Amino acid sequence: MGDAVKAAGARKKVVLLGSTGSIGKSTLEVARLLPERVELVGLAANGSVEALAAQVRETGVRHVALHDASRIDELRALLPAGVEIYPGPEGLSELATLGEADMVLVAIVGTAGLQPALAAIEAGKDLAVASKEILVMAGEIVTASAARKGVKLLPVDSEHNAIFQCLDGHAGGEKEVSRLILTASGGPFRNLPAGQLADVTLAQALKHPTWEMGRKITIDSATLFNKGLEMIEARWLFGIGMERIDVIVHPQSIVHSMVEFIDGSVLAQMSTTDMCFPIQYALTWPERLAGGLQPLDFAKLARLEFEEPRHRDFPALGLAREAGLKGGTLPAVFNAANEVAVDAFIAGGIRFPDIWRVVGEAMSRHQVTAASSLEAVIDADRWARRAAQEACKGRTAAG
Ligand code: NDP
Repeated sequence: MGDAVKAAGARKKVVLLGSTGSIGKSTLEVARLLPERVELVGLAANGSVEALAAQVRETGVRHVALHDASRIDELRALLPAGVEIYPGPEGLSELATLGEADMVLVAIVGTAGLQPALAAIEAGKDLAVASKEILVMAGEIVTASAARKGVKLLPVDSEHNAIFQCLDGHAGGEKEVSRLILTASGGPFRNLPAGQLADVTLAQALKHPTWEMGRKITIDSATLFNKGLEMIEARWLFGIGMERIDVIVHPQSIVHSMVEFIDGSVLAQMSTTDMCFPIQYALTWPERLAGGLQPLDFAKLARLEFEEPRHRDFPALGLAREAGLKGGTLPAVFNAANEVAVDAFIAGGIRFPDIWRVVGEAMSRHQVTAASSLEAVIDADRWARRAAQEACKGRTAAG
């Protein structure tokens, strides 16, 4: 049984997957702010052995997983005696089912967190989800498994956490909601003329105007694929049809998202741009705790602006809507092709607008099937990676 009803005031025991990344470090910060209420009991990373070992020494956890099994000896040499190490992809899933854990927070970039997330659900752990890619790829499977096991899915993404807060305790649920409105900063190229998008550099794309995040999500924010992924993520987390999920550009990133109800009222959630806010709420829900995060100073906020996204110049939102509306395996293709295209852009193999062209090409070639089995989504994911790699090669050759 999940931890939704754990007694108020109890210390929540958390396994953190992706502890050495941007979300992982903010989660450690929240645990530092709330030592009486949040206890980390397991940490996992890909290959950052030194950073992981330093986190083990700081937190005193006794269980760690490392995806890159070839670096286990290196890690062992850096760890205090008695710490148990879980190697490879299976190790991550094993750690996610740790007996003493109440909750697993998945903050692994990409889809490598899917199997551990499903393992955690099967073991009855509540799941705090930062890795939006796993809900885009396998939202139907993850949400159905969570419902079957009676575990709670808690959104860590600031937009979804905002919507979760606006809906929290709202008895009418889906029937009373008219729209979910996701806010987007617009990224570094919000005002760049369309003709100049082909020439943007990696360094420019990595300069996010309001948030400091890992590389992949920062590029996704520049293309607006991040918002597209979030549209599909919202569809699964809140059981709302894609046609009722909208995006509005809000450059200040103070309003993290909004819910419009059928009576025309809109609830919005606001805070400073600090991921510790949504992480803390996901970890301490259903309670709110004084953890030491800074509230907004409205007198210092110059203005809050909202504008329509540039749909024609940034096709990611349209592709996401198409993927979400058609459903089946198409969202998995949208996600996997984007991952490949982002890697190719980072490696200097394709130009910035090629990212959405590669994804569009993979989506248009894909034969959509139902996504109710894990095999089907994994097959679609593999197919999309190959299709996107081919599309990238073509573009490299074409210059
Ligand atoms: P980072 O790139 O900063 O960190 C990624 C983390 O995942 C690292 O700890 C990395 O370990 C680990 N990792 C990568 N691959 C594997 C693997 N195969 N097995 C185990 N661990 C792995 O990413 P972010 O923290 O920015 O993002 C993480 C997720 O959270 C993404 O899905 C992103 O979309 C989502 N998110 C992020 C936000 C942010 O503010 N950063 C906001 C909202 C959502 P190592 O260091 O060893 O490589």
